[in-house]
Amino acid sequence: MSDLRQLLHRTADHVAAYREAAAEAPVATDVDLARLRADLGGPLETAGRPAAEVVERLVAAAAPGLVTTTGPRYFGFVTGGALDAATCADMLAAGWDQAAFNAVLSPAAAVAEEVAGGWLKELLGLPATASFGFVTGGQAANTVGLAAARHAVLARAGWDVEKGGLGGAPALRVVAGEERHATIDRSLRLLGIGTDALRLAAAGSNGGIEVGALREVLAEDPDRPTIVCLQAGNVNTGACDSLGAACGVARRHGGPTWVHVDGAFGLWAAANPASRAQVAGIELADSWATDGHKWLNVPYDSGYVFCAEPEAHAAAMSLTAAYLVGQGDGTVRAPSAYVTESSRRARGFATWAALQELGRDGVAALVERCCRLARRFAAALGDVEGVTIANEVVLNQVLVDFGGAARTDRVIAAVQAGGTCWMGGTTWRGRRLMRISVSNWSTCEADVDRSVAAIRQALGAA
Ligand SMILES: *Cc1c(COP(=O)(O)O)cnc(C)c1O
Repeated sequence: MSDLRQLLHRTADHVAAYREAAAEAPVATDVDLARLRADLGGPLETAGRPAAEVVERLVAAAAPGLVTTTGPRYFGFVTGGALDAATCADMLAAGWDQAAFNAVLSPAAAVAEEVAGGWLKELLGLPATASFGFVTGGQAANTVGLAAARHAVLARAGWDVEKGGLGGAPALRVVAGEERHATIDRSLRLLGIGTDALRLAAAGSNGGIEVGALREVLAEDPDRPTIVCLQAGNVNTGACDSLGAACGVARRHGGPTWVHVDGAFGLWAAANPASRAQVAGIELADSWATDGHKWLNVPYDSGYVFCAEPEAHAAAMSLTAAYLVGQGDGTVRAPSAYVTESSRRARGFATWAALQELGRDGVAALVERCCRLARRFAAALGDVEGVTIANEVVLNQVLVDFGGAARTDRVIAAVQAGGTCWMGGTTWRGRRLMRISVSNWSTCEADVDRSVAAIRQALGAA
């Protein structure tokens, strides 16, 4: 065997060993940062080392600082874990070392994106004619969607923002729910729109936008070019805005209007018949952002942006001129014309593989299972004396109050230290809460039951 082949096998063995152990390993261990820094650090040496030695050193030094987010009992943030085929496809993408800039640099990467993008639109119930970009995550998807929005509403107001910039442009307004995700604000900063352009509509009891409040905010300035940001999947409660009603209200607004939906994880409700009603009317928006690396369980970094007006998408994003979408090959979509990167990794392979591994039914079952397990958490914990479930569990998110902020923080700390499972804390509407997100493909009922037992134990000691 060649040295390289041997090294690749050994590396694959490291990955396999880690993933095999993930279901039973402590989810998070006490991290000794000083040791991590010592083992990974020191001055950059003058001479290089053999590749095999470098890999072994990396595995030994990094292992104590790895968090088993890929395992079945990690319920922090909204993460998901990587499916087997998607992980291997990502390893292939690295091994093949493809640049997914255009079809000349990698026809395989370009066509895999073309195909997987079509599958995604079908699964999510988006218009078949929508354009799409494979981006690094929800943040990038929001930025690209809002760039297309900025182009379209200003074009309708007679302004070419790609040429003239925002100085001297008609003033834009962005109407969003008060419980929008923080990445919306960062996208507005990046796009030069600025957060002063935000006008906020109140959220209802479970965190979704109040459609009546949206109507009132829009009416405050009826002619202003306006971007409406809706949300599918409140990061605390899982609630989705009433997309159909909200889009209807936005459509009746007088000035140029664009509706963007941030559905980083909640958009996947559309892929499961039992949860599809949560996002009814989804197809009425103009652009959509979602993640692959959350609920689809694709490795990082993987997000998708879709746009009902491909011309607006390409005008905002293409590297050359808006009309040169094919970039040298009119028959194959150029991946780089719909994202912010030029040279980029071939992340489409992992999405292609995840969708093949699951199939249409498997995606629906994954979403349904996570929702069912979230309800199982809520039922089991809600039965415990002194414990309250703080949200209506409509999707995969559960918020738990253990009887006040101090006690809740003690329970969270004890659960995290215990290593059986990992849940984070959040503050929602002034309440300190444990947040549980069920989004991993490998989580099953036994994982929930073990985690509930660990929480009950922590509660007893708190
Ligand atoms: C996670 C999340 C984002 C950001 O997505 P990244 O992939 O972390 O960039 C945006 N919006 C919502 C609602 C999210 O849950």
